[in-house]
Amino acid sequence: MILLLFGPPGCGKGTQARLITDLLHIPAISTGDLLRAEITSGTPLGLKAQAIMTAGGLVSDDLVNAMLVNRLKRHDCREGFLLDGYPRTLEQALFLDRVLAQRGGGEPMIIHMDVPASVILPRITSRRQCPKCNRIYNVLHQPPKSAGVCDVDGVELATRKDDRQDVVRDRLRAYEQLTGPAIAHYTGKRMYHRIDGTQRPDRVFAAIQQVLRPAFVG
Ligand code: ADP
Repeated sequence: MILLLFGPPGCGKGTQARLITDLLHIPAISTGDLLRAEITSGTPLGLKAQAIMTAGGLVSDDLVNAMLVNRLKRHDCREGFLLDGYPRTLEQALFLDRVLAQRGGGEPMIIHMDVPASVILPRITSRRQCPKCNRIYNVLHQPPKSAGVCDVDGVELATRKDDRQDVVRDRLRAYEQLTGPAIAHYTGKRMYHRIDGTQRPDRVFAAIQQVLRPAFVG
């Protein structure tokens, strides 16, 4: 199964992606995580991406498309995959259409987590991430078992540089202006599902499972 997960920055996509991965045993590919890994390794792509990401803009379609194609070549994607944070522009959506047509695995399922911008800001500034395994926590709603450290790795949790309020505003603007048209590309399709992302994470996951169930049954 190929799943595309849409939603504004800070809507809880990463959390849901992890739950879906555990349920379906397909890898969750976050282009944001891939880019952060490039930055950490100091690759030429990472160097190009760093300033753009810190400012809340979008990395160029060509760079992200090439990075994604590379990732999809890996063996773990053979049975399907979930994309989190891609496609983020109409260009990327059209590119993905071509990539998927070549693979021949059928239409992707689209899950759109809808959350208004007014709910996003307070949520995102209380977000923390494990620098090692990328797991997401929220000091208000989903704190780690032991304050400040990752449940899995025991590594100290970090606040992302681009989770500052002014940067978040720019990211939300980029989402509306650039990702809006990518979502519009899918909204009329049979496999498009909109989910109310303002609910508690377990409710959101229950709603996602409802959507996934018919795909399992056949
Ligand atoms: P969020 O969804 O919370 O904004 P991500 O980790 O998905 O966080 O993305 C962080 C940043 O990485 C984005 O603001 C953008 O600069 C860059 N990025 C991630 N995915 C893409 C993409 N598909 N196209 C362009 N830039 C991207």
